[in-house]
Amino acid sequence: MVTIRTCPSYQEETISAALRQALADIGGLDAYARPGETVLLKVNLVMGKGPEAAATTHPALVSALARLLIAHGCRVLIGDSPGGPFNAVMLRRVYHLTGMDRAAAASGAELSYSTETKTISCAAGKILKSLTVTAMSQEVDKVISVCKLKTHGMMTYTGAAKNMFGTIPGTVKAEYHVRMPKMEDFADALLDICEATRPVLSIMDAVIGMEGNGPTGGSPRKIGALLASPSPYELDLAAAHLIGLGKEQVLTLQKAAERALAPAVFAELSLAGDPPERFMIPDFKLPDHIHADVSANGFLPKWLMQWTRPKVRVDPQRCVGCGDCAANCPAKVITMKNRRPVVDYRRCIRCYCCQELCPRTAVSVKESWIFKIANRL
Ligand code: SF4
Ligand code: SF4
Repeated sequence: MVTIRTCPSYQEETISAALRQALADIGGLDAYARPGETVLLKVNLVMGKGPEAAATTHPALVSALARLLIAHGCRVLIGDSPGGPFNAVMLRRVYHLTGMDRAAAASGAELSYSTETKTISCAAGKILKSLTVTAMSQEVDKVISVCKLKTHGMMTYTGAAKNMFGTIPGTVKAEYHVRMPKMEDFADALLDICEATRPVLSIMDAVIGMEGNGPTGGSPRKIGALLASPSPYELDLAAAHLIGLGKEQVLTLQKAAERALAPAVFAELSLAGDPPERFMIPDFKLPDHIHADVSANGFLPKWLMQWTRPKVRVDPQRCVGCGDCAANCPAKVITMKNRRPVVDYRRCIRCYCCQELCPRTAVSVKESWIFKIANRL
């Protein structure tokens, strides 16, 4: 069951009303959290950007949800592990820039500064059998995923299921990229992580999403909707449909269908709320480059792939030489020379973390013409 409700703005009364409607559609708050329980709102704080950039969950939604839960008798924590180092200084900075400190103050919720980690079993996982996750995601009674609708350079789309990758602490995320350089394996691993840290409820901020070069370098685009579902996979299938995507373009949707976690197509979803046609955006811009491993289809020999696969490029006009890309490159293939990043393309695993975490949107991805042709065959 997925509900889609009209929410034209982040104005407090507007978003609170839409949230109450959405929750009523899927059984009410009591179906997901009981008085006395501690609930973590697992927000998407990929990096320290203001709410107007549409890269992170909007604080107005977080505040409205926290208020409802507190009035319901719950204790509410707000937290995430953003990209980069996972420490209290970084968390404080990101909470401030994304407006989470104001959301907590306005609602009575608490910000989580825990940087402890835990290893948990993931015996049913397809790729991962154990996980290192944030303790904050384990030391609560319930987790609610409060995600954002965005495009994603590596995965094409990011929403509820991929939001749970943020339970992997800071730089440990890089290890997962290195361990699973193949897109198919990474998509399955994302589902393993989501299953192991399973949120009881997923709520999506699709009031203003991000199109183009998401998840951090794209442009805000109004969709005017709030989505909610007990199933992160069903929510993602519905949200992706609104921006013209299905399992053919989004590997996590394909994998969820293969693993019987969600229907294969939007038409098979059980829907509530407002008509989805109201929110569909046929010209929603996708990333300039959509990652696809054409070596898997055997069209090009591996030696030629090395030269034709997409490459990250740095715009010298935008780059300020901060070194964040080098510090966060999972494969450690970026070196700083004269305050400029230099990439060893032979060892680059095309995870696009450098693009995602560059604070100046100086990194883009360029496809060769051979790659473009091969990718469309
Ligand atoms: S993160 Fe961006 S601005 Fe910083 S060195 Fe890398 S490309 Fe330049
Ligand atoms: S250079 Fe960029 S795309 Fe390549 S491995 Fe490093 S972070 Fe990933």
